[in-house]
Amino acid sequence: MNESVLSQLTAAFQKKFSDSGKPRYFRAPGRVNLIGGHTDYNDGFVLPVAIDREMLLAVSPRDDKKVKAYSCNFTDTRSFSLDKIEFNEEVMWINYLQGVAKYLQKAGFLLGGLDIALLGRVPLGAGLSSSAALEVAVASAFREVFQLELSDEKLAAIARQAENDFVGVNCGIMDQFISVLGRKNRALFLDCRTQEYELIPIKNSGYKIVVANTNVEHHLADSAYNKRQQECQQGVEILNNLFEKQISTLRDVNCDEFAAVKDKMPEVVRRRCQHVIYENQRVKDCRQALLDDDLEQAGKLISLSHKSLSNLYQVSCHELDLIVNIALEIDGVLGARMTGAGFGGSTVNLVKDQAIAEFKTIVTNKYQDKTGIEPDIYICEVVDGCGEISLN
Ligand code: ADP
Ligand code: MG
Repeated sequence: MNESVLSQLTAAFQKKFSDSGKPRYFRAPGRVNLIGGHTDYNDGFVLPVAIDREMLLAVSPRDDKKVKAYSCNFTDTRSFSLDKIEFNEEVMWINYLQGVAKYLQKAGFLLGGLDIALLGRVPLGAGLSSSAALEVAVASAFREVFQLELSDEKLAAIARQAENDFVGVNCGIMDQFISVLGRKNRALFLDCRTQEYELIPIKNSGYKIVVANTNVEHHLADSAYNKRQQECQQGVEILNNLFEKQISTLRDVNCDEFAAVKDKMPEVVRRRCQHVIYENQRVKDCRQALLDDDLEQAGKLISLSHKSLSNLYQVSCHELDLIVNIALEIDGVLGARMTGAGFGGSTVNLVKDQAIAEFKTIVTNKYQDKTGIEPDIYICEVVDGCGEISLN
C-alpha cells in the first residue's frame, strides 16, 4: 500500500473529523474486464481482474445514526441519516453511499453511524468502475465495523442493488463481484447466470495488463446500451421460434446452433446475436488459454473481441478503434480491445514487459497526434478484492 496516499487520507480524516476516534482503513479495487464485452446482461461469461487502482476509506463509528462522508477527490462533505435515506438529486456521489446503507438495512442488518473520509484512485468514468469500488468499499466498511454476518457474494449483490435500484444505473453483477472476490494475480471467470466463478491463475510473469484511457465519452453510450439490450431480446424471441428448445437468453445458444439458423435472422439483430454468442465462446477459450499459459492465444482472442464489438455489436468509436490499432502495431502487444460499455472509455491490452515503455510513448504520441487528446496509460497489477488495510 502506498504510504503517502494513506497519510493523505489520514490527514483529511483528522481535519474533517477532529472529534472522531482513530480510523480503520478499507479498500476496494477498480477492475478491467479482459474479455467478455456485453455478455454480462445476456447471462453469459466474463473474465475481469481487480486492479491496483482503488477506493480507500478511513472510517470511524459515530454514536448517532448519521453517516458523514468527505470525498478528498471532490473536497466535499455530505451527510445523511440512516433512518431517512432519500435520493439526493443535486449531489450524485453521496447516493452511492446511501444506496449501500439502504439495502444493507433492508436486508436486515443493523447499522450505526460512520465518519468516512474517502480517497478514490480509480479514475472516474474511465470504464474501470470507480462506482463499484466506492459501493464495495463502503459495504465492506459497514460489514467490518458493525460485524455483519454478510458473505462476500451477498455483499456484492447489495452493492449492485445500490447501483441498480438507488443510483439507477442498470449494470450487471460483474463490477461489484470482482471488486469483492478478485484475487492477486488471478482473473475471475464468472458465469453471470449462476454466479458460479473460478479464479484463474495468471501464470506468466513476462507481460502486464495495460489500460489505455481514450479520455473521450460520447453521449451515445446510454441510449445505445438500452438499444443493444432490446436488440438482444429481439434476438432471443426470433431464436426461440427457430429452435425446439426454450431459449431465455443468448447464453442458451452455442456457435454451431447459431451458425445453422443465422441466415434466417434480420441483419442487425443477427449481428448483435453473433457477437454475444461468439464472445461467450471466446471468454471460455481465453480462460483455457490463461490456464495453458498461452498468452499469444489469449491476446488473439482479446483482439478478435474488439473486432466483433466494433463491427458486429457496433459499440466502439473512432478513438477506441484508433488506440487499439496503434497498440496492435507495436511489437510485443499480444492483444488489445475496448473494455466497458463503449463509445469511449478505455482499452485493455496485454503487453510484454519489454514493450511497456514503447507502448507508453507510441500510444500517447500517435493518439495525441491524431486526436489532439492526451490518453492516460495505466500499467496494472492484479490485486485482491476488498478488505481492511492493516497498518502493521
Ligand atoms: P465508472 O464506474 O465507470 O468509473 P460511473 O459513472 O459509474 O463511472 O461512476 C462514477 C461516479 O462514482 C462519480 O461520478 C461519483 O458519483 C462516484 N465516485 C467515484 N469515485 C468517487 C470519489 N472518489 N469520490 C466521490 N464519488 C466518487
Ligand atoms: Mg460505474
